[in-house]
Parts: sequence; C-alpha cells; structure tokens
Amino acid sequence: MKKTNILKKIENAGLKKTKYRVNIIDLLEKADGLLSASDIHQLLIDNDIQMDLSTVYRTLEKLTENNIINRIELEKEKQSLYEYNREKHHHFMICKSCNKIETIYDCPLTKYEEDIKAHSDFLITGHKIEFYGYCKNCRKRLKIN
Ligand SMILES: [Zn+2]
Ligand SMILES: [Zn+2]
Repeated sequence: MKKTNILKKIENAGLKKTKYRVNIIDLLEKADGLLSASDIHQLLIDNDIQMDLSTVYRTLEKLTENNIINRIELEKEKQSLYEYNREKHHHFMICKSCNKIETIYDCPLTKYEEDIKAHSDFLITGHKIEFYGYCKNCRKRLKIN
C-alpha cells in the first residue's frame, strides 16, 4: 500500500501518525498470512527499523482498537496473531494442534446482524468468530475423526 494511503488510514481513525504505526501497518499489509508480535518485531529488525517489543505490542493494541488491523487469538498458546484489516469479512478456522489457520469467507451472520440491527437501537459495527479444532493433517496424525 502507498505510504499516503497508510497515512490516510491513520488519520481517518483519528490517530497520530507515528513512524511505528506507519511501519507496522505497511508490514502487515504486505504480509502473506498472519503474523505474531514477535514475527513483526523480527521483520522490523530485518528492515533496519528500530522498535522495541513493548512498542510493537502497544502499537498493535492501538491499531486493533481502531480496526485498522485484526487480532486473532490462538487458543493453545495464549498468543495472538495479526492481519491487516482488508474489510472483506471473514472468519478463521484454527487448528489447536499445529496452529494452521484457514480462512472462511462465507458468513451466514450477515443476515442475522441485519435482523438485530432492524430490531434494536444498538449500532453493530462487526462481529468476530473463530473456530477451533483440528486440521486435516492433525486429524490423520492424531487419529481424530
Ligand atoms: Zn493441524
Ligand atoms: Zn461473520
């Protein structure tokens, strides 16, 4: 993504444009898949960007709060992964054994959400569901049907 677009994104969220935010958004936007805070920290180092791990965590927190990025919790390791919020609605299936993550783009809850909106004064801005279980390989390996 162009730097000006990243800056716009930060500005629209009403956040201050810090180099930490710009760099982390840039990195997540280019990433192929989900990244942990330590993956991000390492990639920043690889790109000669100085940022300590606690700043990475703080920045991720802020960007998540503002819906610029999404956080996905891994059930097994109490670790979180992050992705750039591309605004194409999706959910994840997360393998409890190997942490493999598959994306699902079909969501039957969109209709449900509309119904709730129609019958309440609550303004719903989104929902989050993660499915936990075992991937094909782990099912085979662990003999789970
Ligand atoms: Zn697995
Ligand atoms: Zn959904």
